[in-house]
Amino acid sequence: MTEIGNQRSEVREQTTADKDRAFYLEMLKSEQCLCERGKKPGKAFCYGCYKRLPYRMQEDLYKRVGQGFEEAYEAATKYLQENIW
Ligand SMILES: [Zn+2]
Repeated sequence: MTEIGNQRSEVREQTTADKDRAFYLEMLKSEQCLCERGKKPGKAFCYGCYKRLPYRMQEDLYKRVGQGFEEAYEAATKYLQENIW
């Protein structure tokens, strides 16, 4: 997996509060996707939802919490809400 979109500096302002970070970590640990189907812990979405995302969004979800995952997750959720769910 290649590192893409490296234009964003590693060092950036702390815009995500700790409690928000905890929310994403809890969500990742959960075994239920937002579509209410089961998902694997560690994944943002179930396989069905994940496969419906554009390739670029799938790639972005490999980012870590605190390093762009939040934005990727929000974008993917918005996409799924508008196009799939
Ligand atoms: Zn799902």
